[in-house]
Amino acid sequence: MNTTIITNIQGFSIHDGPGIRTVVFFKGCLLSCRWCANPECLSKKPEIGFIHSLCQQCGKCLEVCPNNAIRSGEDVYRIERLRCDSCGKCVENCDYGALVRYGDLMTVDEVWDAVRRDKMFYDTSGGGVTASGGEPLLHAQFVKELFQLCHNERIGTCIETSGFVDTDAFLEVIPVTERFLFDLKHMDSVTHKKYTGQFNDQILKNARVVVESGVNVLFRQPLIPGVNDTTTHIEATAAFLKTLGKKALSLELMPYHRMGQDKYKALNMEYRMENTPIMSYDELEAIKKAYMDLGINCSISR
Ligand code: SF4
Ligand code: SF4
Repeated sequence: MNTTIITNIQGFSIHDGPGIRTVVFFKGCLLSCRWCANPECLSKKPEIGFIHSLCQQCGKCLEVCPNNAIRSGEDVYRIERLRCDSCGKCVENCDYGALVRYGDLMTVDEVWDAVRRDKMFYDTSGGGVTASGGEPLLHAQFVKELFQLCHNERIGTCIETSGFVDTDAFLEVIPVTERFLFDLKHMDSVTHKKYTGQFNDQILKNARVVVESGVNVLFRQPLIPGVNDTTTHIEATAAFLKTLGKKALSLELMPYHRMGQDKYKALNMEYRMENTPIMSYDELEAIKKAYMDLGINCSISR
């Protein structure tokens, strides 16, 4: 039985495809976008998050840790990441919810059992299951098996992807996938690498493959002030979408937000977008209009 590492399974989402959806968050991503709102999904390995504001310093985690990986300081406890093997014993023993384990090994059947329960809601809302992450296509065989089960039960299937995977991963899942939500983060390859860690060539190639396959695809763009909100970049994105043909003339903008910031703290990761402003309604509408004026059917996810 195929197994893989899942960060979370979240029911009743209305932001990750049409209707009411269950979102399966796969762990691991080959990009490292500075604005990523799911830092707990970047590494392929399980990790422990420490929410310091909830810790009462009761000392239970210290007692149960088999690796002596928890240290008590002056007024704060911390995890020595090099000693921690993410066994989860501290999480099970913390009565205050200050510790959380990100990542569990699950079989396709276990995920299927979790997602099929809400079939009634999918049926009445036109929803289904969305594979997200992290990058779900790093787990293409698993996604394919899960979606085949969904397909057999007429449950909708959707993939949120960064596009940064081997083209073969797309070819594997396209026959059982109803739609893709495909991120285009920056059109200039060097700038793309600066902010995400990788050039964009493979992503643009895969965008074309997906459109040419005939499957439903909505391109999306995290809208990051000072990174991809300039007129030049708007024109470049519109020009690229036009090269993909009539079916690709839509773009959903996802305005930058800071909702993932606390998870960076919990994981001892540096948050590099501290000084990035949140765009006003008028600024967002102006960018939407700029896309519309260029012939792109633009929407903003709120
Ligand atoms: S068990 Fe929980 S509340 Fe107690 S010291 Fe550890 S993290 Fe803090
Ligand atoms: S996950 Fe295990 S090894 Fe890591 S800090 Fe908790 S108890 Fe210790």
